[in-house]
Amino acid sequence: MLSYHTAIITGASRGLGRAIARSFVMRGLNVVMVARSEPDLKAAVRELSEEFIGSHVGYYVADIRQPEDIKRLFHATAEAFGWADVLVNNAGVGTYKPLLDWTDEEIHDTLTVNLTSLIACCRAALPEMIAHKHGYIINIASDLSRRYLPNMAPYVAAKFGALGFAGSLLREVKQHGVKVTTVMPGIIDTNFNNSQEGSREETWALRPEVLAERVVELLSLPKHVVVDELAIHPMQQDF
Ligand code: NAP
Repeated sequence: MLSYHTAIITGASRGLGRAIARSFVMRGLNVVMVARSEPDLKAAVRELSEEFIGSHVGYYVADIRQPEDIKRLFHATAEAFGWADVLVNNAGVGTYKPLLDWTDEEIHDTLTVNLTSLIACCRAALPEMIAHKHGYIINIASDLSRRYLPNMAPYVAAKFGALGFAGSLLREVKQHGVKVTTVMPGIIDTNFNNSQEGSREETWALRPEVLAERVVELLSLPKHVVVDELAIHPMQQDF
């Protein structure tokens, strides 16, 4: 049994977030799955509810670029399940092209979704966690949080920022019983940046389910232990 009860997972309509939701539901956590696409969220929740009868899994449609959506998400979660003692900041966007081909909007969205909104979600989650001296924030960053890649400079900047933010936050909130982990995966077999899940060139990539199981393991560590960073790669990736 895990000592956590309710998790909010952003970017849970597909890919890694959806796999993390499944691993959490399997362990008996209440889960709120968050994304912009209601049909995708509905389908994901239906699938999990059918697979795990009696589970408590719901969804909330939110665009985490919007501060009001974040406020409403935490309020709705508290109403439905009680306060969230786990937050997984997983939603992410990025594109791959020379910097001068990025639009201003793409740069803004990349910095916002991968960094500013992640910070905003932490700020929304922390008051209850600190009050209860219990909570876990897991940020899905990237191995690009500490290596360089041409054609993804704004994304890399945001992921570097997410690592720096989380390391600093952990040192600030661990005295209040709140853990913070940055997960830094290499290439995952998902639809990220319009790639095709299961496409041939991705068959050597990390499977989301494998990564999701590592994430849920973090929640089972003893209270006095924290993994501050978790780097994980496919063996064949050049990193
Ligand atoms: P994905 O399949 O593209 O999923 C991204 C998720 O984020 C979707 O559920 C999407 O749903 C949601 N999302 C995007 N913008 C949002 C917004 N403004 N508000 C709310 N939700 C939003 O990508 P993934 O590969 O699973 O990525 C998960 C995380 O892993 C990301 O942080 C990514 O940067 C990181 N990562 C990925 C890889 C990789 O190779 N795939 C490698 C390292 C790290 P909607 O579009 O419906 O909102």
